[in-house]
Amino acid sequence: MPILVMKFGGTSVATPDRIRRAAKRVGVEVAKGYDVIVIVSAMAGETNKLVGYVNETSPLYDAREYDAIVSSGENVTAGLMALTLQEMDVPARSWQGWQVPVKTNSAHASARIEEIPTGNITAKFGEGMRVAVVAGFQGVSPEGRITTLGRGGSDTTAVAFAAAFGAERCDIYTDVDGVYTTDPRIASKARKLDRIAFEEMLELASLGAKVLQTRSVELAMRYKVKLRVLSSFEEQSDEAGTLVCDEEEVMENRPVSGIAYSRDEAKMTLVSVADRPGIAAAIFGPLAEAGVNVDMIIQNIAEAGRTDMTFSCPVDQVKRAEKALNDAKAAGHINFHDLIADTDVAKISAVGIGMRSQSGVAAKMFRTLSDEGINIKVIATSEIKISVLIDRKYMELAVQALHDAFELEKAG
Ligand code: ADP
Ligand code: ASP
Ligand code: MG
Repeated sequence: MPILVMKFGGTSVATPDRIRRAAKRVGVEVAKGYDVIVIVSAMAGETNKLVGYVNETSPLYDAREYDAIVSSGENVTAGLMALTLQEMDVPARSWQGWQVPVKTNSAHASARIEEIPTGNITAKFGEGMRVAVVAGFQGVSPEGRITTLGRGGSDTTAVAFAAAFGAERCDIYTDVDGVYTTDPRIASKARKLDRIAFEEMLELASLGAKVLQTRSVELAMRYKVKLRVLSSFEEQSDEAGTLVCDEEEVMENRPVSGIAYSRDEAKMTLVSVADRPGIAAAIFGPLAEAGVNVDMIIQNIAEAGRTDMTFSCPVDQVKRAEKALNDAKAAGHINFHDLIADTDVAKISAVGIGMRSQSGVAAKMFRTLSDEGINIKVIATSEIKISVLIDRKYMELAVQALHDAFELEKAG
């Protein structure tokens, strides 16, 4: 029988009643003749609550225990979904990551899936089970410990299962009815896209559009998974939602396709470091080892052999970054006068494949922000994106102004 993967995010499984609604939708696909692999998130708010417990208990926590704790939310919804389906007379069974097993590397809290053996679940389908409900977001390391895939990781679980099982499609059910030109919750003029190219979705996701986890898009692109985002709250046709697809299949052609933001950024500045060969390696090596995800970097012009180095990282990694840099200083590997953390910044990015061939996009972006009186603190660009760091209080204004400036409310 053909296999379909259906993933339900936190709001779609927030209560037993919502789980019932999601299960009904699964039942419809089973009735059409599909064997279904359902991937579930934890109930809305549950993972945040668990992360809060961890931080309260141990601010510089052992990531193995973090994973043991935060993975548990998905176990509950997987069992509840299986029970709900059974109540509807659909033969279903739940699976935790280690039972499948979803084999990952040992990078706790942001593990990568390495292999999903299909034998166990396929055998059960062979015995008449119609739905395998799998707890998203979790796996097992070579050492036999529970791992998690990073926030939003159930999307990646879903795409990885679709690839491993050769599913006909991977449907991501969420609380919006597709991928929009920007987050519809902060820009009322945001427009739903019928299609978006993998490369653009990849950039939007990595720059903060949490509708899909970045790695899920990477995997879908690599394994040619037919990936669709749609609402679990509305009646759906086969054409509903947004299809993430190859660039050639997208009709729109404009310089900017979407605006992403990330609220949880921090800007760190090392004041007066010695400007010598190897200094960047001496700073960013320890940060990498401490698991700090450095994004934008600027090194200022040196004066009298000393320079300032600025970088951005997620705000919840500031403590880790400070510790790594202060330890490196204490060990005599680097020397700086001061370390300043600005935790009130946000990153705003304009993304579009059309930027490759059209000039003036950056100028327009900077002009728009300046017209709103918004100061740009750091800039970073790549072939298909421009990102700026600004004061967080201007974040929504910046997103709306850029959405207007690039006329994203109009189909193009
Ligand atoms: P789930 O719990 O289903 O995984 P998420 O909260 O992770 O849902 O992702 C869905 C949310 O992503 C939406 O509610 C929306 O606020 C946000 N979002 C951000 N950018 C976009 C975008 N460009 N298009 C659609 N949704 C977006
Ligand atoms: N529950 C996890 C999170 O909130 C994984 C997910 O929902 O995708 O990050
Ligand atoms: Mg999500």
